[in-house]
Amino acid sequence: MDDPREALADCLRGLAETLRHHRDLGVREITLSRTPFPDPGDALREQERALQGCTRCKLCRSRTTIAFGSGSAHARLMVVGEGPGEEEDKQGKPFVGRAGQLLTRMLASVGFDRERDCYIANVVKCRPERNRNPEPDEVAACNPFLMAQLDTIQPLVILALGNFAAQTLLGTREGISKLRGKTYEYRSSTLVPTFHPAFLLRNPGQEFKRMAWDDLKLARREYERLTGGARAPASS
Ligand code: URA
Repeated sequence: MDDPREALADCLRGLAETLRHHRDLGVREITLSRTPFPDPGDALREQERALQGCTRCKLCRSRTTIAFGSGSAHARLMVVGEGPGEEEDKQGKPFVGRAGQLLTRMLASVGFDRERDCYIANVVKCRPERNRNPEPDEVAACNPFLMAQLDTIQPLVILALGNFAAQTLLGTREGISKLRGKTYEYRSSTLVPTFHPAFLLRNPGQEFKRMAWDDLKLARREYERLTGGARAPASS
């Protein structure tokens, strides 16, 4: 796009779409100021501290701990899941149960070290009972925290795991089977949707595995293209 007016109009259309999506989710507050922390590690620690004892939604009643996020504050790949499961609720970290072990292997299969190269978070930070889907008011309550994580990490690539993460971020009701296999512009990142590892554990057929592998390779290619293959600095 050569015309700067067209680029600006495009940017404003994207902003309007995001704001409409957040309004529909029930978000009533958006922080416009840039983080006052020059170090992303400090910013994330402050966000996590601010979330402690959270009672913004009903998930607080049944949770054990808040699983805020984990990995490198300097990551250029951000992985977004749905919400903590039983093990994550115990340990206070995303993706540490069976699905998390599979996710670690999936990332490693395309050369990403989970701790060094990725930052991992969920749409909601507290476990929905019996792993039910998070409800719209719960997503809305947690949304400012996910947005703050995205603003801080400013990932080049986002890997959205499963229907819930992909639909929430993209503001669509389209299923993951339709969404996957392509890239999407999301704020200033490239978003790659793929199957959730828990789905792959429940459906061990080769067909889904192969599609997930294709998606991971796509994420890797986007990562290489956007970083020129450079590694992120060590985490703070
Ligand atoms: N499933 C998710 O979506 N997130 C986790 O952290 C664990 C399982």
